[in-house]
Amino acid sequence: MGEFDLIARFFKRPARRAVLGVGDDCALLAPTPGMHLAFSTDSLIEGRHFVSTVNPIHLGHKALAVNLSDLAACGAQPRAFLLSLTLPRVDETWLAGFAQGLWALADAFDCELIGGDTTQGPLNINITVIGDVPAGQALLRSGAQVGDDIYVSGHLGDARIALEVFRGQLSVPESVFLTTRARMEQPTPRIALGMALRGLATSAADISDGLLGDLGHILQASQVGAELQTALAMPLMACAAHVALPRAQQLEYVLTGGDDYELVFTAPPHRRADVLAAGIASHTPVTCIGTVRAGQGVVLLDAQGRATPHRFTSFDHFA
Ligand code: ADP
Ligand code: MG
Repeated sequence: MGEFDLIARFFKRPARRAVLGVGDDCALLAPTPGMHLAFSTDSLIEGRHFVSTVNPIHLGHKALAVNLSDLAACGAQPRAFLLSLTLPRVDETWLAGFAQGLWALADAFDCELIGGDTTQGPLNINITVIGDVPAGQALLRSGAQVGDDIYVSGHLGDARIALEVFRGQLSVPESVFLTTRARMEQPTPRIALGMALRGLATSAADISDGLLGDLGHILQASQVGAELQTALAMPLMACAAHVALPRAQQLEYVLTGGDDYELVFTAPPHRRADVLAAGIASHTPVTCIGTVRAGQGVVLLDAQGRATPHRFTSFDHFA
């Protein structure tokens, strides 16, 4: 099968919302008046972001999910995406699985594949997503205010459990491995929550590299610091009860474990009821874990409100 048969067979569908979809030199989209377009791109590299034995259905899901997660963090609604694939060879079974996972998520979020590129080389998947958000309503990293509550969506730290099992550093019951592996390989982009937080959250980011690192981006952009209640953060690990982890390690996984693709965001205390309502409306758990403070950096508070020293760092490709 050649390059163009491959595209036609696995990645071409008639254009829907797009003015022009796959098949020409460019795709064409008509922007909606009054909306800003939101763009983001993310690559998945074999050996770095996934193991070679990963189920291609899950890989198709994850490649798009991590991109949609960036749209969620901006409060944007997904519209379209571009797919650049570098493949070592044409493996039809692999491609069918990858396309299945990709289309399932694309359809779930009504996000249209409008073009891409296909080349030969070491397996590498790059997706660029395009969304839109009413002008002036995008959630930014830079708006956190002193006194705001700090929230996270869903659960944190579970994906890290699966990573440590893969690394041979941890052993857990099979059922826990399956659950945590699904968290790592098939994250749920928090699109509905991001959209519900428009006009409500003062800042937001998605958690791809670990809570402390991604919250750190908000704090830096907003020129503020934060206090986190460890007693509120610890229970965010959903499978904690089923893994015999020392408390310090559980806390480390919650605060620094990557691959969760949840949202961290801030909102003023007087909007607390609205934030909880946004969580309910979007079927997404939200938990308040701390407060924005003047200054810089994150202070961890124990159950008695005492500051506890820590040396946690989040993932950095070049650190
Ligand atoms: P060009 O050479 O002009 O970049 P290509 O010949 O690479 O275009 O691609 C032909 C068409 O197929 C283009 O519309 C391109 O956007 C689309 N395309 C290529 N690869 C993919 C892919 N993996 N998924 C979706 N569309 C693709
Ligand atoms: Mg090309």
